[in-house]
Amino acid sequence: MDGPVAEEKINNSPEDLTRAVKYLAGFYGAVDCGITILKSSHLYSHIGRGSGEYGAPVILNHKFGIAFTVEMDFQMTGSAPFPPITMESGKQYVESARVAVQLAAAIRSLGYSARAHIDGNYRVIAPLVARDAGLWNIGRMGLLMTPRQGPRVRVGVVTSDLPLIPDQVQPDESLIDFCGICKKCADNCPSQSIPHGTRKEANGALRWKIDPESCYHYWTTIGTDCGRCMAVCPYSHPDNWAHNIVRRGISKSGTFRRAALVMDDFFYGKKPSTRSKSVLPSIGNK
Ligand code: SF4
Ligand code: SF4
Repeated sequence: MDGPVAEEKINNSPEDLTRAVKYLAGFYGAVDCGITILKSSHLYSHIGRGSGEYGAPVILNHKFGIAFTVEMDFQMTGSAPFPPITMESGKQYVESARVAVQLAAAIRSLGYSARAHIDGNYRVIAPLVARDAGLWNIGRMGLLMTPRQGPRVRVGVVTSDLPLIPDQVQPDESLIDFCGICKKCADNCPSQSIPHGTRKEANGALRWKIDPESCYHYWTTIGTDCGRCMAVCPYSHPDNWAHNIVRRGISKSGTFRRAALVMDDFFYGKKPSTRSKSVLPSIGNK
């Protein structure tokens, strides 16, 4: 989503502008925000749904990608694969769009072009931008994983030519190591769409590649989104002190990762039960 750009450019330093952009993202509702220099591998090749001519090549000249996350509710996510997770997912897509549209409008008011990439109107592959902006990494289930909410987030992106300071991303293989031993998403996937093995090279990158066809076929069979992988992931547990101590241990020690997985199986089960299908009030004729 584009819009008119103010004629006069603001001339603050990139440091000031970076601080302002991150502050605004948080103010509008993001839980994390990072910045990266856009690469061609972040862009879709052709326009799909949304504005623009369907099938036309994607052209985007912005230098920076500002990625952020919004949190999905723990209880609603735990209802997967029943409808409340679909409602929550849709709600948070709207929230991420709300943040992105406001942030892009604020940047344009400073005299720089900016585009909000929102559900159904993307030009960039949001999880890849978010990973390179330091929001963390892509896990076995193929979604962006964040340190405090795991995959229980929706990702939004604003691209812009506003001069910014990209985040310095430190290599952190703790998630990849944990996913290597965990496999809970793969074990619980009703359509066996998530691989159990090691990462394989695909399009020049090492990754776990899920089968999107069988996943989506399952969605159409049950008549709602699934999200069971997101619900059972140990990283999806609430962002509280107890889980954050475990998260810290996992990030520091391979031995702790293995112990944490045993604890997760003990407390939540190898096949965690659906947390609540009845988070919604019952409606309709009795
Ligand atoms: S469930 Fe386990 S293997 Fe799957 S993404 Fe989460 S941590 Fe990784
Ligand atoms: S959404 Fe459901 S079917 Fe699709 S990969 Fe996740 S667990 Fe499997």
